[in-house]
Amino acid sequence: MALTNLLDLDPAQLVAYCGELGEKPFRAKQLQRWIHQFGASDFAAMTDLAKSLRDKLATRAIVASPAVISDHTSTDGTRKWLLDVGQGNAVETVFIPEENRGTLCISTQAGCAVNCRFCSTGKQGFNRNLTVGEIIGQLWMAEFELRKTKGIEPGPKGERQITNVVMMGMGEPLLNYEPTVTALKLMLDDNAYGLSRRRVTLSTSGVVPMIDKLGQDCAVALAVSLHASNDALRDGLVPLNKKYPLKELMAACVRYLPFAPRDFVTFEYCMLDGVNDTEQHARELVALVRHGAEPVPCKFNLIPFNPFPESGLTRSNNPQIKLFAQVLMDAGIVTTIRKTRGDDIDAACGQLAGEVQDRTKVQERMQKMAEYQEKFGKNFGRLVEVTS
Ligand code: SAH
Ligand code: SF4
Repeated sequence: MALTNLLDLDPAQLVAYCGELGEKPFRAKQLQRWIHQFGASDFAAMTDLAKSLRDKLATRAIVASPAVISDHTSTDGTRKWLLDVGQGNAVETVFIPEENRGTLCISTQAGCAVNCRFCSTGKQGFNRNLTVGEIIGQLWMAEFELRKTKGIEPGPKGERQITNVVMMGMGEPLLNYEPTVTALKLMLDDNAYGLSRRRVTLSTSGVVPMIDKLGQDCAVALAVSLHASNDALRDGLVPLNKKYPLKELMAACVRYLPFAPRDFVTFEYCMLDGVNDTEQHARELVALVRHGAEPVPCKFNLIPFNPFPESGLTRSNNPQIKLFAQVLMDAGIVTTIRKTRGDDIDAACGQLAGEVQDRTKVQERMQKMAEYQEKFGKNFGRLVEVTS
C-alpha cells in the first residue's frame, strides 16, 4: 500500500482521511496542528493522539517535504534552499528577512511553460506541476528550519519566522491551479499557518480565466506581471499576452478587486533597458491603468532586470528607473523600486534557476541553458526586495 503524504491533504481531505481510519473530525484538527504548527513528522511524538491512531498512521502515512539539496544563507540573512522534486528537477525557495516581517518566496512548478523573454525559469522550459505537498512543504520545511536555526520552539507559542508568503518563485501558479489553491487554503487555515489573506500574494503573468476563479475560490493579494504598456510590446515579452491581451487582463483585475484583501492590484514591471523603460512607456502605462477602458486601482513595483547571460537584454540604469517611477508617481500611482538582495548566494525571486528536465519542445533552450551553466555556474540570479 502506498503511503499517503499528509502534506498533500487540505483540511477537509484530512477530515475525510481520518474518517476512513474510523476517527472523528476533531482528530484531524489535532493532527493538522501537529504537522503544520509543530512541524512534526513523527507520529509517535503526537502524544495527544490515541496510541492506536498513531500506530495506524505510522504504517499508512508520512509527512514529507522535498529533500533539501542545498541550503545557503547570504550575509544579509537571505536564505535559499534548493529542493529535489525528483527525476533531475529541482526548485528553489527563498526566505527574505526584514525588520518587521519574514517573507518566503515559493515555487509552484518545475520550470514554466509561459516562456517570458526576460525570465531564466521560462528559458529552462517546463517539466511538471508541483503537488500540494511540494508547495506547502516549502513553507513547512522553511518555517521549522528557520526556527531550529534560531532555537525557537515549534508550536503556536514560538515566534513565527514566516509572516508573509509570495508565490513568485519558479512557475506560473495559475497554470497549476488546484494544488496552488489547496496550498493557499492551508496557509490561511487557523489550524495550520493562520496567515491573513493580505500577507499571501500570488503573482501571475495574467491567466485571465483563472484570476476570476481565484477570486471565487481563495482571493489572496494579487500581483500581475505587466512588463509592458501596450499589446505589441507585451506580446514579445510575455507570450501569454497573445491569448489574454491587456484589455482583458485589466478587466480581470477590476473584477478581482471586490474579492481581494487589498483594494489594489500590484503590477510588477521588469525594467529592461531600451525595451520598455522610456518616459513614453510610463505615460502609456498611466493611460492604460488610469484612463483605459478598465481603469484599475493599482500600485507599481519596478523590478530592475536581473540579467542572465545571452538573454540579449540589459537592466535599465538607475536614473532611468527613477525617471520612469516619477512619471507614475506624478500621476498619483504609488510606485516602489526593488533593491538587490542575496547577491552572494545568487538567490533570485522571479528568475530562479533550479534545475528542470524540460518535457516541452524547447530542447534547444535547454541546450543554451546548459552552455550558460557550464560557463557561469548553475545559479546566476539575484534576489531583489521592495524598497519604498
Ligand atoms: N510566473 C509568475 C510568478 C513567478 S515570476 C509571474 O510571472 O508573475 C515572479 C516575478 O519575477 C515576475 O514579476 C517576473 O516577471 C519577475 N522576473 C522574472 N524574470 C526576471 C528577471 N530576469 N529579472 C527581474 N524580474 C524577473
Ligand atoms: Fe513563467 Fe513567470 Fe518566468 Fe514568465 S516570468 S516564464 S510566467 S515564471
